[in-house]
Amino acid sequence: MDGQVEARVSHEVDEWLRWLPRWRPGTHRGRVRLCKRCFGSPILSAAGLADGVPHGVQHAFSMRMKSIIDSEVDEYTSRNLPLLHREIRLAEDRKARRPYRAGEGLDPEFAGLELDPEPVDDQPFLFTLGGLEEQAAASALEPPPRAFSEEEKAALRTEVKLADDFAKQIGRRICIAVALESSRLRTSVDDLVEPQIAELLADLDRELDSPSWPTL
Ligand SMILES: [Zn+2]
Repeated sequence: MDGQVEARVSHEVDEWLRWLPRWRPGTHRGRVRLCKRCFGSPILSAAGLADGVPHGVQHAFSMRMKSIIDSEVDEYTSRNLPLLHREIRLAEDRKARRPYRAGEGLDPEFAGLELDPEPVDDQPFLFTLGGLEEQAAASALEPPPRAFSEEEKAALRTEVKLADDFAKQIGRRICIAVALESSRLRTSVDDLVEPQIAELLADLDRELDSPSWPTL
């Protein structure tokens, strides 16, 4: 083990800590769906950020760690898994030809979040970003995907499994590395996030006590 993953974790933790003072409690409507990246994440658990931490704060952390896994797996794939590497490149080329791609090039704090708000039954949206992207993809002229032989399929499945095993291995190394940082992470959340939540709750209390509310 060359320590590259651990060095990247340390860099991303520093970046996240630099971002943390800018976090503010969201004023938007609470999300109904659970975030796939954050809910039950072993990395957030290892970092000590699984409980009692607002989702926006967790999500920014999850996406930074995901970026490490993605780039490590990309490197591994390009070095060791020629079939998978080729298929990924072809898929990326197809995607790059689409005229409109929602959700790309976002900062880690926003990447991977739902682009559109939750739909409301009796208030349909005129358009959604996801819908525009689908339309753009459908209108782009794409050649039909090539058919694979059985041997190619089996070889690709083996490479996908190797890439998956490698991603899990990187995930475990990240867990160990963030566990070592957990007290520093938790202290920062207590110092920077907790006071804002306390203030928000105090505001809410004042609002509820306000004389403009009818007394029951
Ligand atoms: Zn999330």
